[in-house]
Amino acid sequence: MVRLRKPSIYKTPDELRAMVRPGLLTEAALVAVRAAIRPGITTGELDAIAEQTIRDGGGIPNFQLVPGYRHTLCVSVNDEVVHGIPGDRVLQPGDLVSVDAGAEVDGWNGDSAFSTVVPGGDATITAARQRLVDVTERSLWHGIAALARARNLNEVGDAVEDAIDGTGTWGIVEDFTGHGIGRSMHEDPPVFNYRIRGAGPAVRPGLVVAIEPMVTAGTIDSSTDDDDWTVRTLDGTDAAHWEHSVAVHADGVWVLTAADGGASGLAPLGVTPVPIP
Ligand code: MG
Ligand code: MG
Repeated sequence: MVRLRKPSIYKTPDELRAMVRPGLLTEAALVAVRAAIRPGITTGELDAIAEQTIRDGGGIPNFQLVPGYRHTLCVSVNDEVVHGIPGDRVLQPGDLVSVDAGAEVDGWNGDSAFSTVVPGGDATITAARQRLVDVTERSLWHGIAALARARNLNEVGDAVEDAIDGTGTWGIVEDFTGHGIGRSMHEDPPVFNYRIRGAGPAVRPGLVVAIEPMVTAGTIDSSTDDDDWTVRTLDGTDAAHWEHSVAVHADGVWVLTAADGGASGLAPLGVTPVPIP
């Protein structure tokens, strides 16, 4: 019997440096999409903007490398949690839109997502959706801050859960997790968005993970549509999704999918990211 050695989840300093470009290109695609979001634009048009940005930057949209998927983005609206397929859907005032993208450069990957509320629409609904977006983003930064201090990876999930539970009654989607990232967009280890038994792998230099809380205004349960992709909340409540790819290195942590390495998001939590040496 041949035993295949599992690749290490810890990258070398050279490998960490190779992940800077795909991270920044992923962010550039999301910045371009965010700037284009307005009532009347279709999710397919947003997809084209992201693809153009990634290809102009010398990268490959890595979602297109996932078997069976041919788009650059996932765009998930209102009760859609993740994996919404871009197409003819026209964004309406007040829609809660979650946009997920990834770029591959020289065989290394980035993966990041944000949620936002389309301007306009009913003020009460918009305010509730913005609150969900903000709570979810905040929980991501708490998770990243926890990673900066953690001995073991599952402390991230503790921090995400605590950040969400401290702000009201929300549901953390449990059908999906974050993940390691590197040569492939999805690698070991899983990164939980909630407290689980067991400590998880040691947090030490070379660990690179995508942390991606998915939070709803109600249930923790989701279902997948007949298109085999679109994931929506089982109770029809709204959902938000935020994600960053984060590297742990000898001198600290660096958010690969943020131009400032996560400095602005982490500052309120007392963490200063350090560029990869
Ligand atoms: Mg993603
Ligand atoms: Mg991901």
